[in-house]
Amino acid sequence: MLYKEPAPIKDRENPFESMMSRFNIAAEILGLDEEVYNVLKTPTRQVIVNVPVTMDDGKVRVFEGYRVIHSTILGPSKGGIRFAPDVFLDEVKALAAWMTWKCAVVDIPYGGAKGGVICDPFSMSAGEMERLTRAYTQALIDTFGPDQDIPAPDMGTGPREMAWLMDEYSRMKGSTIHAVVTGKPLVLGGSLGRVEATGRGVMVSAMAAMEKLGMDPAKSTAVIQGFGNVGAWAAKLMAERGVKILGVSDVSGAYWNDNGIDIEEAIEYKNNNKGRLEGYKNAEKISNDELLVSKVDVLVPAAVEDVITIKNVDQIQARLIVEGANGPTSYKADNIINEKGIMVVPDILANSGGVTVSYFEWVQNRMGFKWTLDRVNERAERIMNESFERVYAASQKYNVPMRIAAYIVAIDKVAMTYKYRGGF
Ligand code: NAD
Repeated sequence: MLYKEPAPIKDRENPFESMMSRFNIAAEILGLDEEVYNVLKTPTRQVIVNVPVTMDDGKVRVFEGYRVIHSTILGPSKGGIRFAPDVFLDEVKALAAWMTWKCAVVDIPYGGAKGGVICDPFSMSAGEMERLTRAYTQALIDTFGPDQDIPAPDMGTGPREMAWLMDEYSRMKGSTIHAVVTGKPLVLGGSLGRVEATGRGVMVSAMAAMEKLGMDPAKSTAVIQGFGNVGAWAAKLMAERGVKILGVSDVSGAYWNDNGIDIEEAIEYKNNNKGRLEGYKNAEKISNDELLVSKVDVLVPAAVEDVITIKNVDQIQARLIVEGANGPTSYKADNIINEKGIMVVPDILANSGGVTVSYFEWVQNRMGFKWTLDRVNERAERIMNESFERVYAASQKYNVPMRIAAYIVAIDKVAMTYKYRGGF
């Protein structure tokens, strides 16, 4: 599985309410009128399907699946499909809304959606996964579509499932329709640069924020939590710009070197070690908790949600946090971060390089033409920089932290579009 698309905050109590807490602050500052508030706070459509699938033992099991379309105001809805045993409707609702805001922040013409199927992908055979993916696609054949709703990978799904989805959809429609899904394998119309797109966007956001804070990358230090797709690419690209990466971590623990981790070497080690840093020698082993509160200039959480919470926020020493992961900071930690004067480039901005290049994949599919890697990177960097500047300007104008500013930019864009389009 190479990459996933934006998942969000996962405040286990109620992810939708956690997302709404930040939405509400921004809506109030914007003076959003009640009509638009009511439109944006509820998803447009929630579909629940039950799909029968023949398992390898010959028995038929019925899987419950969801597709939530939060908004189509800006364009066709976009969002990943999560295969997980604990996925639930409120989580999918939160994720769908998250996608609306993320697409609006980077100003791409998409609404937000998300899908999920309750299953355990790690205990299922490839055949079972294929039959489930095809059955789920059939059940949602009237929902998906290149001009309606465009899925992508999320937790538990990847390019393989997207290829099956594209194939099933195309068979049912009677022609090959690449643009119905993004995150496909390269040979099937995937985009160059998609794999590294999120990490690259994190790097671009970090550079833009450092410039605002008057920090010289070549004299700055950073730690990266998570050394998967997003974390490793962010570390590599930040190191190339002179930032000294003092620590990196993954599920096996954290690794620290006062002279800086050799990122190329650590990536090579990980690639030859089943994707893990376990046993990495050229660094001192510390705990993941220590890494998060270590004395560095920049902290990049790029692993899981809820790692910066009221339990550790007091001890955070970084001046800048760039959220590669979705929802790494709990809502309750926001105020203390703001009091400490730490700048946070929020997830809906910092990790939106991924959905931006997914959008490029869709554009290329519709043109029937492939862009070069340079063209993809140059256009994605421009979008990231412009988006950062928009959010930064809003934070200055409304005198709010970058997170709330990002919501303001997103809600304002969607609300204005809604006003022009008109309701009933
Ligand atoms: P990944 O599976 O490739 O990597 C995750 C990394 O985090 C691994 O190194 C894993 O070992 C590590 N990890 C897991 N639990 C940890 C823990 N408790 N402490 C420290 N490290 C831990 O995933 P990814 O694609 O890099 O995604 C990372 C985050 O970025 C997720 O929140 C994801 O939703 C978000 N995101 C990813 C993309 C994308 O394009 N890949 C886009 C937007 C957002």
